[in-house]
Amino acid sequence: MEINSFGDLYKITTSKNLVEYLQNLGMLKSNFPCKNCRQTCFLQTDSNNTIINTTFYCPNCKNTFSVLDGSFFESAKMPVSNILHLMWMWACEINTESAAQSMGMKKNIVVEQFRSFRGVIRWKLSQNKKLLQLGGPGHVVQIDKILLIRLRTKNNEVKQKLVISMYDTTTKKGYVQQIYNKTPGEATSIVEL
Ligand SMILES: [Zn+2]
Repeated sequence: MEINSFGDLYKITTSKNLVEYLQNLGMLKSNFPCKNCRQTCFLQTDSNNTIINTTFYCPNCKNTFSVLDGSFFESAKMPVSNILHLMWMWACEINTESAAQSMGMKKNIVVEQFRSFRGVIRWKLSQNKKLLQLGGPGHVVQIDKILLIRLRTKNNEVKQKLVISMYDTTTKKGYVQQIYNKTPGEATSIVEL
């Protein structure tokens, strides 16, 4: 099953469908050997579970294990299907207010969930610094703008936030980077020339 639009999410009609979809994406384990007897577990409906109505079941020792263990959803406090809907809205840059209204949720819950998505992206990017590397022999990197945004805090302190945009015209990759509490000169020094 492929999800190419928000409407496609509604094609996932059962919890088992949802688990299989997430397994195909590699977001949940596909093979789960029983922790007691190493027998391969299979998916079974668990209607008491409000987060996801499916569990791994061992046909040998009859134990059940969470399908979410060791996954991004491990500490989920809302149904996984809701998280998936919010993930889609976040990726579409729908603001927290609209997302909360659409989902019938409190805004602070949506804010918290969006923050966790950003955390995953931040972690993922930090794991592979090459993704952020621009330039190289024969490459032209445009550093188009350094924007200086001044923020006044509650204590009337002025803090500055710098945003540098960089674009590699060869690979056609670019990104913007926020830098806090640095002068424009210090910010420029992070660019290796
Ligand atoms: Zn077992």
